[in-house]
Amino acid sequence: MSQTFESFGLDPSILEAIQNMGFTSPSSIQQQAIPLILQGCDLVALSQTGSGKTAACAIPVCHRVQIQRPAIQALVVVPTRELALQYAQEVQKIGRKKGIKAFAICGGESASLQLSKLRHGVHVLVATPGRLIDFIYSRSIDLSQVEILVLDEADQMLGMGFYEDLEFIMGCLIHPHQTLLFSATMPETIGRLATKHMRQPQELNLLKESRSPGNISHQFLYCPQHLRDQELAQLLQTLEVKQAIVFCHSRFQVEKVCQSLKKETSVQGVDFLHAGLQQNVRSMITKKFRSGKIQVLVATDVVARGLDFSSLSHVFIYQLPRDPESYLHRSGRTGRYDKSGVVISLVTERELPLLKPILHHLQQEPTWLGTPPPLAHNKPKAKPKRPHI
Ligand code: AMP
Repeated sequence: MSQTFESFGLDPSILEAIQNMGFTSPSSIQQQAIPLILQGCDLVALSQTGSGKTAACAIPVCHRVQIQRPAIQALVVVPTRELALQYAQEVQKIGRKKGIKAFAICGGESASLQLSKLRHGVHVLVATPGRLIDFIYSRSIDLSQVEILVLDEADQMLGMGFYEDLEFIMGCLIHPHQTLLFSATMPETIGRLATKHMRQPQELNLLKESRSPGNISHQFLYCPQHLRDQELAQLLQTLEVKQAIVFCHSRFQVEKVCQSLKKETSVQGVDFLHAGLQQNVRSMITKKFRSGKIQVLVATDVVARGLDFSSLSHVFIYQLPRDPESYLHRSGRTGRYDKSGVVISLVTERELPLLKPILHHLQQEPTWLGTPPPLAHNKPKAKPKRPHI
């Protein structure tokens, strides 16, 4: 099945925008989701981030918006502020030529400023659940014209404890509308939401197509716990790292590792990001990272989901996460769409048991940089030499 964007019968201004964005042909999720969304079907789409799923939804949404109606016609709910801003930007890019106005509302910023922006006419509203519910409660937002409701990264929102909030939001739209739900996994709660609030949704499962994008090289470095900072600094100094994220478990660890990298390496532009920072600082850092002013960003899982940093060459995992899903989300920050990327995890002896489920998910043997751990000695596919350093 190889379709073109032209074959969907899209508005010419949207086709022009897609071309300007450099998209030459639709990705797999776009080929499958765009026609269904254009037909008005409800949809549950399981897809990895990095597969082009934002545009798979934003393209048909922008096609359907009627710009002469200055009302919120599409409502997109996402888990984090960073994702909200990113999503609104993508919609803005796709819909600009058509005259579509997209806007993001999220906590941590002046509610009155956001409200005055809303009064100037917004067609596509992207929101985090908390701020959206505040506006619904205070009756400062009119959702009566919403024709398309999108829940993006639904599993992450549910994982953050937003089940009741999502139910509430879905329950607020009492008029007929289309609901589109995007998720990277299928917890039981998603099935429950779909059964209760969706009309015979079509299901697309693209997870089988790419468990982890094939253009990502997964590598592991076995090292003693006390040498972790040193090893990380050495990797950053010796590898050709265009831009990297270093994932740590906790806020405390993030700040400690960031300090150590500033001291131990000559890398220009090291900074950190975690949810404990003020919202304006978080956006400033995300912006600086996107523009390339920060080369290495040390962060918690606050940036592990959905965010698209297109020039990221490396992901470093300072400490292995307990669940493989989390590993996949972290590693999915690199190798976006058709780009390649390298993920290097530092593994201590205590963390070796966590490796097995991750490798099972990746369906591959570990590639060890340097000396493999004692247990891996017998494995024939392990590569013993540290390459390219
Ligand atoms: P997403 O999965 O939505 O986070 O998208 C990942 C990246 O793929 C983003 O940088 C998109 O701009 C890019 N992208 C989406 N669709 C296409 C396409 N058809 N051709 C090329 N790049 C695309």
